[in-house]
Amino acid sequence: MPSVNQDLAARKQKAQEVDRRLVKAFGLTVPGNDRDMTHELIHAVLSQNTHRRNYNLAYRRLTDEFPTADDIGKAPLAEIERAIRPGGLSKQKSRAIKEILNSLEAQRGDTSLEFLRRMPVPEARGFLTSLPGVGPKTASVVLMFADGRKVLPVDTHVLRTSRRLGLIDERTDAVKAEHELEELVPPAKRPRMHLNLVHLGREICHARGPRHEICPLNAVCDLYQSTR
Ligand code: SF4
Repeated sequence: MPSVNQDLAARKQKAQEVDRRLVKAFGLTVPGNDRDMTHELIHAVLSQNTHRRNYNLAYRRLTDEFPTADDIGKAPLAEIERAIRPGGLSKQKSRAIKEILNSLEAQRGDTSLEFLRRMPVPEARGFLTSLPGVGPKTASVVLMFADGRKVLPVDTHVLRTSRRLGLIDERTDAVKAEHELEELVPPAKRPRMHLNLVHLGREICHARGPRHEICPLNAVCDLYQSTR
């Protein structure tokens, strides 16, 4: 049986190979983004369990009507709900947005999250996850997209593909997976690893019916290799 250190070294090597193959196949990098931190958090809330086209529409409608986070904070709940309705789940998302902004107002006196840019990642994550309804994945997404932090958010696609590839154990949960994957992937490569694994999960490594035959990672995938 390999020692813990041997296992870690092997998984680091595998992560390097996975990254190399993903870059060659998809080559995704984090796009430029001029959203402030609070807008990024609102965008992340709108994206939960929703198709990209719909949540981008909801975000556009909301910010066309209420351009600043303070404007959204002051808007009646019903107005927020109406603005984001085309995105779906508008009742629960309008409540979630309002609760976050109310909590920021109560704690900090305004709705800005820009102070997080000066905080180390663990503290910034800690503050974000202390807000109502904000989990570790949403916190990392905000830090990665709005502030260029070198983190590796774990959503359902990243969790599923990482387990199947054998980067993490199949019983590892999303919170633990984020720490483990960040240990395997050097900081500079984490954002692109996130984007490329999400793309892999959406396009090829589906929850049901993964398309092993066309997958650029099949030669290094534990699940696929165990079935041959
Ligand atoms: S080989 Fe199959 S299981 Fe492995 S990553 Fe590719 S699609 Fe997913």
